[in-house]
Amino acid sequence: MAIQRPKGTQDLLPGIIEQWQYLEETIRSVCREYGYEEIRTPMFEATELFQRGVGQTTDIVKKEMYTFQDKGDRSMTLRPELTASVCRAYVEDKLYGQPQPVKLYYIGPMFRYERPQSGRFRQFHQFGVEVLGADQPIVDAEVISLVWNLYKRLGLSGLEVHVNSVGCPVCRARHREQLQEFLISRKKDLCNDCQERFDRNPLRILDCKNPSCQEVTVGAPTTRDTLCEDCSTHFEKVLAILGRAGVVYRVNPRLVRGLDYYTKTAFEVMVEEIGAQSAICGGGRYDKLVEEIGGPATPGIGFAMGIERVLAALQVQNKLPEEKPKQFAMLIALGEKAQIEGFALVTALRSKGMPVGMDLLGRSLKNQLKSANRQGASLAFILGEEELDRNVLVIRDLTSGEQMEVPLNDAVEEIFMKYQRGV
Ligand SMILES: [Zn+2]
Ligand SMILES: [Zn+2]
Repeated sequence: MAIQRPKGTQDLLPGIIEQWQYLEETIRSVCREYGYEEIRTPMFEATELFQRGVGQTTDIVKKEMYTFQDKGDRSMTLRPELTASVCRAYVEDKLYGQPQPVKLYYIGPMFRYERPQSGRFRQFHQFGVEVLGADQPIVDAEVISLVWNLYKRLGLSGLEVHVNSVGCPVCRARHREQLQEFLISRKKDLCNDCQERFDRNPLRILDCKNPSCQEVTVGAPTTRDTLCEDCSTHFEKVLAILGRAGVVYRVNPRLVRGLDYYTKTAFEVMVEEIGAQSAICGGGRYDKLVEEIGGPATPGIGFAMGIERVLAALQVQNKLPEEKPKQFAMLIALGEKAQIEGFALVTALRSKGMPVGMDLLGRSLKNQLKSANRQGASLAFILGEEELDRNVLVIRDLTSGEQMEVPLNDAVEEIFMKYQRGV
């Protein structure tokens, strides 16, 4: 039996990969405009990094990680996300010694052992940014504005940023108490997961998707109600900066991130798809995370978005470029000698930076012309025995059918001039 790719993975073939490249190129140019630089960290890390940096109690760490013992009997894990790795690099590579803040972005594969029926991939791809070493509200606004402008640039419509503040450990302790007080009498109506969360992590009950939990939490005290003065001022400033910059946002008190190192701003970018809103990006501030993984106290904020998810949204809104890039020109060589000469010509043009194709199968003139048309070439360069004898090259305009001859010795220069003029 032929070997198949692992469940939950995909081959990205020509025809689809152009969409990925388009998205990645757009991401890279927006990041350049915002002054974010790329970081690439290893595909696998010590398991402990994710246990500490993603959180022991999260589904990711409890159920979804690709963890293995390597030959040195160390526990390694294929990265399920990148924030912990970036924070690890910030500490290990002493990026805190550079001018702050450090503004980084990444694009790459992540790995989670998802159930196949969930429609998610086990190897999926994320773009994300992390800003380390700055705690000002304007940093939060910049990060949100970056992804907002990326989606605008891509042409997505129906966008809205949901934003909230989860506060700091001080105001969160207060919120936790009030929330438990509010929920205690209705605890039995919560789903099993939420009953478990009640003591450990009651904040997460607020974003449970279970309808009965959502009903129980109607009117529950929100994080915003209990913010301390510092957190409250921070949040109001973020909102003011976003509003002035034209970012459409809505404060969503149910938007929470349950782990202790998440602080202050939390956000999701929603997109409208077939009547419903769904998230295509999530992020927030994590001022306690770098310490959590053993580094110096360092404020941080970031977001991650699924590449597959955003491509799907672009597809739904019909915003993906459809055209495969066209071949500008094809060289048509007939006979062995012409093939050798033609190859030299094509090589000279390619080394000047001009894309030009050539038949590699020794096909007939008719079939080579057909292939040139199929690839959308606008010019064909024809070289046969007879042209070689006369030391000329035929240039045929495939749109008009017009032909001209140029001396073979001048062909590279002539063709390249045409290319530069866009003929
Ligand atoms: Zn606070
Ligand atoms: Zn629940």
